[in-house]
Amino acid sequence: MTETVTNWAGNITYTAKELHRPRSLDALRTLVADSARVRVLGSGHSFNEIADPGSEGVLLSLADLPAVVDVDPAARTVRVGGGVRYAELARRVHAHGLALPNMASLPHISVAGSVATGTHGSGVGNGPLASAVREVELVTADGSTVTIGRGDARFGGAVTALGALGVVTALTLDLEPAFEVEQYVFTELPLTGLDPAAFDTVMSAAYSVSLFTDWRAPGFRQVWVKRRTDQPLPEFPWASPATGKMHPVPGMPAVNCTEQSGVPGPWHERLPHFRAEFTPSSGAELQSEYLLPREDAVDALRAVDGVRETVASVLQTCEVRTVAADEQWLSPSHGRDSVALHFTWVEDTEAVLPVVRRLEEALEPFGGRPHWGKVFTVPAARVRERYPRLDDFRQLAKELDPRGKFVNAFVRDLLAG
Ligand SMILES: Cc1cc2nc3c(=O)[nH]c(=O)nc-3n(C[C@H](O)[C@H](O)[C@H](O)COP(=O)(O)OP(=O)(O)OC[C@H]3O[C@@H](n4cnc5c(N)ncnc54)[C@H](O)[C@@H]3O)c2cc1C
Repeated sequence: MTETVTNWAGNITYTAKELHRPRSLDALRTLVADSARVRVLGSGHSFNEIADPGSEGVLLSLADLPAVVDVDPAARTVRVGGGVRYAELARRVHAHGLALPNMASLPHISVAGSVATGTHGSGVGNGPLASAVREVELVTADGSTVTIGRGDARFGGAVTALGALGVVTALTLDLEPAFEVEQYVFTELPLTGLDPAAFDTVMSAAYSVSLFTDWRAPGFRQVWVKRRTDQPLPEFPWASPATGKMHPVPGMPAVNCTEQSGVPGPWHERLPHFRAEFTPSSGAELQSEYLLPREDAVDALRAVDGVRETVASVLQTCEVRTVAADEQWLSPSHGRDSVALHFTWVEDTEAVLPVVRRLEEALEPFGGRPHWGKVFTVPAARVRERYPRLDDFRQLAKELDPRGKFVNAFVRDLLAG
């Protein structure tokens, strides 16, 4: 490529031979039909090579396509274009008095790229963001359009598809009436004495609950509790209310974060941890995350505690969330209520990778599924074993993309075997 294109974190430089930004659907169709190998670049917030087509391939950005956000208030749905980010979507949906059920920690990410990798927020009753999708519109290998909706036997493979089926040009999402959320931060929740029942009680205390720690000592430094104002005010006797506003990464300014201290506000200004107009997280980082059966959460946390010093040596913050089971075949929370153990590392691949390996060894007994968009070293063969519907996905990929136009090295490893 004449220009250097990297992901948001800067740890991946895409090796594609060309980057195209089509301005119309017709131009996009022609580009896809005329290219031998294609991958779409969303907002580039993944930390691995998932979006890279390789040096013989073409990278497509949908950022210059018309930013479609068509809200249907009567049906309570929205049709959103393949390049649109959550910040824009949420603002437009809220203007109609409607809401998405949940959001990730940041609104900067594209909708299509997020649901493609199983991106999630927190909440024992909240599935990943892909759960809100009811229909997917794809441009497939020959440039034709395919629409797959709920009820279609192929739907289970169509949303969290890692970009392997074609270019997602639009998604239709379910909405609900707008709601308000209050966000409270508590400090110092001990790990000692936390049994599975207590873990469930803590994580079920409100609509969305996150635990944060730097693992420099056992237990959690912060607990973020997001309560919908149309649900009861939770008792939270297990930790102390924070005395000021906080950022989940120690030392970072709380101004980057959404309003805390129980001030009610619209769903899209409380459910993400980070505000759309500021840099999310620390900005200089790598990330890893593993989704494990929720019933194993406490044992898994104890396993991380066992390698605490190793983990802490390159860690900025660790976040523990819950994700309700969903039906997407390649979703890391497929078929099981999950706990998500997330790690924001320092921005140093060489120092981080050995720690990631050590952590993965400690978590091995729990059969964790790595987040598709983050750093992991679990061998592809092991990852494949953890997806019971992988064969169905292989069939679907073969049907929609018989010559493997959308298969890159990342996807090839997964579909092999
Ligand atoms: C600071 C930060 C915070 C994060 N917080 C969270 C979090 O709270 N929860 C969580 O689960 N994850 C989180 N992530 C990870 C992030 O949500 C995922 O990496 C997500 O995939 C990013 O979306 P993107 O558009 O940037 O995807 P990209 O990295 O651009 O692409 C991801 C995949 O989607 C495919 N794709 C993108 N658009 C399309 C399209 N239109 N058609 C077909 N395929 C497409 C790409 O080909 C690629 O395979 C975070 C990442 C960062 C950097």
